[in-house]
Amino acid sequence: MSYKVETVLKDAVSTIGESPHWDDATQTLLYVDILKGDIHRYDPANGKVDVLHLDGGVGFVLPRKKGGLLAGFGQAFVSVDWETKTVTKLAEVDLGSNIKLNDGKCDARGRVWAGTLDWQLTPHKGSLYCLDIDGSVSKQDENFTIANGMAWSPDNKTMYFIDTTPREVYAYDYDIDTGKISNRRLVVNFNDIPELCSKDVMGPDGMTIDTEGNLWVACLQGGCVAKIEPQTGKLLQKVDIPDAKRITSVCWGGKNLDELYVTTLKMHPTRATFPVIDSLDGSLFRVTGLGAHGTPAEMYRG
Ligand code: CA
Repeated sequence: MSYKVETVLKDAVSTIGESPHWDDATQTLLYVDILKGDIHRYDPANGKVDVLHLDGGVGFVLPRKKGGLLAGFGQAFVSVDWETKTVTKLAEVDLGSNIKLNDGKCDARGRVWAGTLDWQLTPHKGSLYCLDIDGSVSKQDENFTIANGMAWSPDNKTMYFIDTTPREVYAYDYDIDTGKISNRRLVVNFNDIPELCSKDVMGPDGMTIDTEGNLWVACLQGGCVAKIEPQTGKLLQKVDIPDAKRITSVCWGGKNLDELYVTTLKMHPTRATFPVIDSLDGSLFRVTGLGAHGTPAEMYRG
């Protein structure tokens, strides 16, 4: 099967491109520039990008059913009105710490799940939170270092979740009615996959899932997206992104949800591991011809 990789936007971000979310209602792509604090909306129909700047780091962005956006902004879940540029705090986590919200996504009932990390990347300080549609926030698990990508199986009975530092993908039993997770187990470890075990690969970052239940995992410093069968932990396909190494996250987009959008990291101003380099890192990519597709991403229903 041959796939095609396009560089949709060169230098799409100036720091860390993340949290791609295909907004099915508007057929546009939302993503963030984490450290710069920018929310981007890319319209493939005309190639234009609108940018909304927030005064601080933004981990993820999602549309809200009632209109506007929901973002992970420092330690807060905030609502964002694009037109008026109003940011309203809805809930906070880990106040008084160095903890920040990182990746976030909605389950099929419109609850938001989001992980945290310590900005110094102190091990085991990260947690997994759920913002329910009634506005309440609860900690669902803890002891992660870089809480990252998440996805739900097509039957919503399993939730997948990544901690980048131990290079692991976990599965939980998921109760879609109550929004509760249980029975965490390891399903993928990059150290066990010959094509991904190199120490040059930092680990799994963001991910999405296809209608057959296979995971599509962004490989940070690996220059590829890995299609992995979670039941076996087996690598089914390695999708190479030419001339980019710092692959951060993926989502399905396009009218048939069969185009994989891929975000990347350009530079980190204070971390020596991510200096500016002469590559396509920082660009937004689109991969077609993968022979797989997703389902419309949920929006926050609170
Ligand atoms: Ca991430």
